[in-house]
Amino acid sequence: MTDVLRVNDVTQRFGHGDAAMTALDDVSLRVRRGETLGLVGESGSGKSTLARAILLMRKPTAGTIEFDGVDITGLRGRALRRHRRRVQMVFQDPNDSLDPRFSVARSIAEPLVAAGVSPKERRRRIADSLDRVGLPMEAAGRYPHEFSGGQRQRIAIARAMAAEPEFVVLDEPTSALDVSVQAQVLNLLVQLQNETGVTYLFITHNLSVVHHIAHRVAVMHQGRVVEEGTGEQVMNAPEHPYTQRLLESMPVLYRT
Ligand code: ADP
Ligand code: MG
Repeated sequence: MTDVLRVNDVTQRFGHGDAAMTALDDVSLRVRRGETLGLVGESGSGKSTLARAILLMRKPTAGTIEFDGVDITGLRGRALRRHRRRVQMVFQDPNDSLDPRFSVARSIAEPLVAAGVSPKERRRRIADSLDRVGLPMEAAGRYPHEFSGGQRQRIAIARAMAAEPEFVVLDEPTSALDVSVQAQVLNLLVQLQNETGVTYLFITHNLSVVHHIAHRVAVMHQGRVVEEGTGEQVMNAPEHPYTQRLLESMPVLYRT
């Protein structure tokens, strides 16, 4: 399998002088096309900062990020807009993906309008993406507050998938949901990957979730990737003391 994403020695610092802090410290990571890389680590370890760098929401202090073999850190104009279409994001809080004032149809259409997709094709994609996430077509005319948390996250996923992305960054997409709903959303994500071949970077602080969904796992701690391997390697034979502690803090149910 080829790498669709390569993060090369990326450092992200915030602030200056005494107030400076290093959120990402020389992070390198590879994600293969069609796989799910689970990125785990406790709150504050730098996961969302890495997500924002991949989405080009902030230029890293140092290092490069290659997408499909091209360094994207210096992209501008058309090339940047093209990259933005190929990579979509789903946030923990659906309110970060969905504007409460917009109908579901408008939320899903927004990235498509920006991408220059025709109105006819937009209508087709709205219907298709709602169907794929298991929501009725009538949902299109309704507003986020009319839905449950799990349904809102389905809408956020429909929005991301309607752009027909190659890569989706999912930043704690199930962390705010009830356990039973979490499993449904995880299963939906697996199904969508099987149907479309999309690649996922799945961010979570929960190792049991990662075990459920990821082909490979990277563990972050204090801005560094301290461990990388298959789910089995990381769960059964963790090398780094931090990963061992993370495993010990998990419910026994999920240990293998
Ligand atoms: P995680 O997603 O793993 O919880 P984050 O990437 O959000 O962690 O944050 C990593 C560290 O970087 C935290 O200490 C956070 O306070 C800091 N940080 C993140 N974004 C900024 C910012 N824009 N300015 C200053 N510090 C930031
Ligand atoms: Mg975060």
